[in-house]
Amino acid sequence: DLSRSGRVFSRSRSEHFFKRGRRVFPTGITRVTVDHEPSPLYIARGDGAYLIDVDGNRLLDLNNNFTTLIHGHGFLPVADAVADLLHRGTCFSNPTEHEITLAELLIERIPAVEHIRFVNSGTEAVMFAIKAARAFTCRPGVARIEGAYHGAYDWAETGQAVSPAIWNDAQRSPAVPAYRGMPPAVGEEVTVIRFNDVEDLERRIASAAPSLACILIDPMPSRAGLIAPEPIFLAAVGAIARQHGILVVADEVLNLRQSYRGASARYGLQPDLIAAGKIIGGGFPIGAIGGRKEVMRVFASDSGTPPLPQGGTFSANPVSMVAGRVAMEAMTEAAFASLESLGDSIRAGLRREIARRGAAFSVTGAASLFRIHPKRKEPTDFREAYLEPAEAELMARLSRHFLQCGILLPNGAAACLSTAMTSADGDAVVSAFADFLSALDANPTE
Ligand code: PLP
Repeated sequence: DLSRSGRVFSRSRSEHFFKRGRRVFPTGITRVTVDHEPSPLYIARGDGAYLIDVDGNRLLDLNNNFTTLIHGHGFLPVADAVADLLHRGTCFSNPTEHEITLAELLIERIPAVEHIRFVNSGTEAVMFAIKAARAFTCRPGVARIEGAYHGAYDWAETGQAVSPAIWNDAQRSPAVPAYRGMPPAVGEEVTVIRFNDVEDLERRIASAAPSLACILIDPMPSRAGLIAPEPIFLAAVGAIARQHGILVVADEVLNLRQSYRGASARYGLQPDLIAAGKIIGGGFPIGAIGGRKEVMRVFASDSGTPPLPQGGTFSANPVSMVAGRVAMEAMTEAAFASLESLGDSIRAGLRREIARRGAAFSVTGAASLFRIHPKRKEPTDFREAYLEPAEAELMARLSRHFLQCGILLPNGAAACLSTAMTSADGDAVVSAFADFLSALDANPTE
């Protein structure tokens, strides 16, 4: 047993719900959660940094709804502001002041954003950023980073599921279809680039440039390893894009949480457009496309050409606008700094435990994000972070161990902190990992 907590983790009510769910959903649930065995955990409620499941297990939540909840669960200022709204109507076909207020806040903070439009998800934000880049350049193609996740728009999904079978086969394009039956034409318009590899970037862009609308890049792609961008790589992305009249689209849906001014500003990338989402909705559905006024004019009907169609029944709904504004207002520069120092201390603690035992693990991440890799050498791109089956099993075992310690650790994605967490929560994360490493020393194959 890898757990030293001695706790018995009951899932009987979750299993009961899963049985019911399997009668109505093809996979039993409509979420894409990790740790399914023997059933996913059904949540009864959230409480700050913690989740309480239907069996009464209390878990430190390092998922925070896929990095959305920067203040954890039930953040009172958001709950109060939304409760106040609910009695006065939650969506109108007309605009409200709330959309202007959130837009003003984001424009004031994020250097790349002069104008903005709201949508309902990160997927939509990426999709409309790509469409805006196409409308502006009159070109169809998208270049994107190997292995990175950008939501479910076909041209953003293609090239995510790259594996050694593909990169070791010179005949196969890394622009792998995202799903069976995807129109082959999609793959023909997608160029896949290796992260942090200037030579690969220059070679692949040079051959595709005349048909490329944009380079889509998340400065620290979470699914591709949560690996820090090399400044020289981001500089090369900007330079080659300018050289060929290609727009840079930064996907900050997840990484906007890295600083008060976002991720591009933090790492010195100067995008033409950004896609945002997650934290800016304060726990409610949201997405946003922002960028240079000149480019954002593609959405306007007075630009001399037909506007790029972009609507959405729930876009800029007052609930998401108000919740987002209140959540973001609480994220002052000081709040970002203290969240980052908690992240620094957790990453340092994890690395200390690895070093003490000479364990074959490494840690990546920045600000309020971290990821543990079962790799002795810290990965510098997606291929180095790629998990062979035995490594994937080890990581699944790590997540199960964390669960036994009362911590929900995302498997295969970024772990993320919230302002609701304390340094004691950080210590619990490090000590759960130390226990795991000790047990692993004792029982490498268990
Ligand atoms: N882009 C990135 C970098 C993401 O992490 C995600 C979601 O995890 C998306 C886009 C898609 O956002 P959504 O799930 O809100 O559609």
